[in-house]
Amino acid sequence: MLWSIIFLNEASANAKEPSGEEIMQQRMDYYMKYQDVFVPWHYLAAVDQYERNIQSVRKDIPKRDSVVAIQFSDEVWAGPFNPNQTDTSIASIQYFGGVGLDGNGDGKADNQSDDDVMYTMARYLSQYGPSEDDFKMALWEYYKSEQVINQILTIAKLYKHYDTIELDTHVFPLPVRGYNYSYRGTWGASRGWGGRRIHEGTDIFAGYGTPVVSTSYGVVEVMGWNEFGGWRIGIRDNHNSYHYYAHLAYYNKDLKVGDIVEPGTLLGGVGSTGYGKEGTSGKFPPHLHYGIYKFNGKTEWAFDPYPSLVQWEKTSRKKK
Ligand SMILES: [Zn+2]
Repeated sequence: MLWSIIFLNEASANAKEPSGEEIMQQRMDYYMKYQDVFVPWHYLAAVDQYERNIQSVRKDIPKRDSVVAIQFSDEVWAGPFNPNQTDTSIASIQYFGGVGLDGNGDGKADNQSDDDVMYTMARYLSQYGPSEDDFKMALWEYYKSEQVINQILTIAKLYKHYDTIELDTHVFPLPVRGYNYSYRGTWGASRGWGGRRIHEGTDIFAGYGTPVVSTSYGVVEVMGWNEFGGWRIGIRDNHNSYHYYAHLAYYNKDLKVGDIVEPGTLLGGVGSTGYGKEGTSGKFPPHLHYGIYKFNGKTEWAFDPYPSLVQWEKTSRKKK
């Protein structure tokens, strides 16, 4: 008895935490295993990543501590009128209208099993059909939110294009060499001009025309004039973040809404546009206003980009 306790302690002490790469590979294995002709791996991966993203910022939903982040509530899994809410019997789950299926062939439908959860999601999506519209319809029935569908489609588009889920690198939004720039952590300082809004972002001061590049992988969601932001661009990434670059002097002419960008893709140049009708410029010193907004599945809120900028500046400087 005592021996077995010691043995167990030793075993858990020796158990190595999987590396980031190993975790990515484990996830990828599930996506490849459960994709089918109607549901390509990047759809499964996008739903899974979306669920992971919201679980990391929401207090009101449980965090699934496993390789797969997708989770089904007991009620949905076992069926709303199933007296046994932790039912794993395939026959009675089906009888009570639950969605739970058996993916790993052990004869049980268990919502704690990554195989069973991934197989159930794949079957659910697959019944709608093969087109992107079918996928959207399936997502609509499941989430009932256009914003959620947009976020998941963005992730799927990036995964498909790069043929990988490893899209986590970031760079500083301005060149760290060859140009002068300065910025400070001014989170919460009030806007100096025309309003009482909290300043949601970080101002990076630099000369007119200094190149502005994307900090992340993402899809261009918004481009054009905004009364406050001037010529601005909004990019949504695979972590449910929306990156906002404002007051640009010009755009990269090759870019349009829907395009895919990556860390370092030229977006435009630093300017002083904004705070007026289209074309207004020069009401303040040239700077990039950079903001990040996080989507938690319900709302989008601004968080302080300063700590990330400091980090990305460091890593960008290390690169040759
Ligand atoms: Zn600003």
